[in-house]
Amino acid sequence: MYKYLFGPVSSRRLGISLGVDLVPPKTCSMDCVYCEAGRTTCLTLERREYYPTNEIIGELGNFLSGGPELDYITFSGAGEPTLHSGIGRIAEFIKGKYPDYKICLITNGTLLGDAKLAKELAAVDLVIPSLDAADEATFRKINRPGPLLSCSTLINSLASFRKTCKTSLWLEIFVVAGLNDSPESIEAIRKAVVRIKPDKVQLNSLDRPGAEKWVGKASEKELLPFVKALEPHVKVEIIGKPSVPEQEGKSKTISASDVERGILDLVRRRPCTLAEISSALALGKGRILPVIDAMAGAGRIKVEKMDRGLFYKLI
Ligand code: SF4
Repeated sequence: MYKYLFGPVSSRRLGISLGVDLVPPKTCSMDCVYCEAGRTTCLTLERREYYPTNEIIGELGNFLSGGPELDYITFSGAGEPTLHSGIGRIAEFIKGKYPDYKICLITNGTLLGDAKLAKELAAVDLVIPSLDAADEATFRKINRPGPLLSCSTLINSLASFRKTCKTSLWLEIFVVAGLNDSPESIEAIRKAVVRIKPDKVQLNSLDRPGAEKWVGKASEKELLPFVKALEPHVKVEIIGKPSVPEQEGKSKTISASDVERGILDLVRRRPCTLAEISSALALGKGRILPVIDAMAGAGRIKVEKMDRGLFYKLI
């Protein structure tokens, strides 16, 4: 079992992705209403070595030496990865020793205006920052940043990062109906997108339990105005359901306590379906179900029903 690595998981946009956790849950510079990792408990802009850089590098070296098939190694997890001051050293280690693997950074973008960080990210192949609002009031409602962060600073940071960095840049917009989908809000986002010039925009919406219960999945009708406004300027994609490889029939020899540890390791980062757990642990659903039922019965995890099915999450 690894402490800082998770997966590989089947990701909606990146294919088979090995996740790397760089900050403890839930350390972030924002507290988004839709966050799949729950509410932010450490709201900060301070960059420091939240986990020992050498230990993360050690786990990566151990995992990658086996030559696993991956589409990406992704800095993501339950918090904002750019807060980790060793992110550059970790990315350089991967590219130096395992140059065939591509690195992706999923970030809220709040620190990308920092020239030192931008240099540290030179080894990263793909950066996916978020921009859910381009006016101050909506930004505060949806992303709930600390008092020192403003929406205009975030947009300036994204635009300057885009100008100075060679990496591919996909901009993610998380649509929360009733919060950022008014014509005024969409027009402000359009102007910001024209300024930032990302390689593409990805429209995302909640498909698993988020930080606030009232946030739901945006319908196609609610996503369409974003597509219409942005498509003349940039390629727009709507992120769909992940294709979760079927693991039925596989039943590795693994103890119930190891299955339980694996399940906890996944759901402490974000709520997961049975199929996602089965795929990530490479175990048949029949092997996982009795363990997960026992954990739910003992009150160790919660079950929540969403459109996409039952999600298991940490209490
Ligand atoms: S969605 Fe990302 S930026 Fe927003 S609170 Fe969660 S980890 Fe932080």
